Amino acid sequence: MDRLIKELKQANVGQLKENEPLANHTTWKIGGPTEVLVIPKDKTSLITTLSLTKKYKVPLFIIGRGSNLLISDKGIRGVVIKISDCIDHLEVTGEEVRVGAGFSLIKLATMMSKKGLSGLEFAGGIPGSVGGAVFMNAGAHRSDIANILKKAKVVYPDGKVVWYNNEDMDFSYRTSRLQKDHGICLEAVFQLRNGDREEIVAEIQKNKEYRKRTQPWDYPCCGSVFRNPLPHHAGKLIEEAGLKGYTVGGAQVSTMHANFIVNIGGATAQNVLELIDYIKVEVFNKFHVEMETEVELIGDNNHI
Ligand SMILES: Cc1cc2nc3c(=O)[nH]c(=O)nc-3n(C[C@H](O)[C@H](O)[C@H](O)COP(=O)(O)OP(=O)(O)OC[C@H]3O[C@@H](n4cnc5c(N)ncnc54)[C@H](O)[C@@H]3O)c2cc1C
Repeated sequence: MDRLIKELKQANVGQLKENEPLANHTTWKIGGPTEVLVIPKDKTSLITTLSLTKKYKVPLFIIGRGSNLLISDKGIRGVVIKISDCIDHLEVTGEEVRVGAGFSLIKLATMMSKKGLSGLEFAGGIPGSVGGAVFMNAGAHRSDIANILKKAKVVYPDGKVVWYNNEDMDFSYRTSRLQKDHGICLEAVFQLRNGDREEIVAEIQKNKEYRKRTQPWDYPCCGSVFRNPLPHHAGKLIEEAGLKGYTVGGAQVSTMHANFIVNIGGATAQNVLELIDYIKVEVFNKFHVEMETEVELIGDNNHI
């Protein structure tokens, strides 16, 4: 690891933080340290970091804005590359938007609404990066990334770079091919439509107000913890199992929205995991429905 760190520094790949607590990089404010966190300067630095971690056979994990991750209290071994507020170029040509994976999705939705470009209204309250949103096929308000993505530029840990069209991305409910083949999104091209600026801005505002009314924005959280076990709604099942407000340590089933677990102070990953297991058992015992997590659980061996 020391030799890798030395080479990463020599290659001047960007910001390097050793023994960095990942709680500083997740919206849940939970997560132990990683040996090295790299925030690459640009695409070339990212590719250099990939090739050096491969050379030294060091495990690697990618994070965006950390809004869909539960990271173990023990942290993540090896290198974590954070693609957020970097690789964040933006180019708008007519109705086409080419944007770097590190760009904030909320900021992008807001900027495009002000230009009168429609298609990203659903994303105005999703606090992820563009790359994380492509990986997850993030969605809300009856739309998702699959609805607007024209193509995505993806790099693999061996340095191979590929452009995928929408149909190559294998999008379905909160999934994409990147979850199976470990591709890293470098940039996305979205196909938006010219629309009425005021209507688009109003739609984003309406969606944000709905979230403020129905979701606990005052506490650190990761959004929905469970996928909806269709045709059921995860939140409704958890609420009907009587679990709103149920607490383990610093982790609590939100009293506002039962599919959210909030960090009410000092929650550990262990607290959240125990709460998740408890919810699964209670919901299964009551409704015979298996609950599957939407949030990604990352332990110290869970790497690319
Ligand atoms: C308050 C709140 C509300 C939310 N509401 C919604 C919602 O309405 N709809 C919804 O879909 N989600 C929602 N989320 C969840 C989350 O914002 C999304 O899943 C988002 O797409 C995750 O992006 P991220 O950059 O934070 O990814 P991270 O959480 O950092 O990472 C998630 C996964 O994506 C991978 N990843 C990240 N960046 C890249 C990249 N560039 N290339 C390849 N893989 C990458 C990571 O390796 C990891 O496996 C919400 C979260 C919060 C906190």
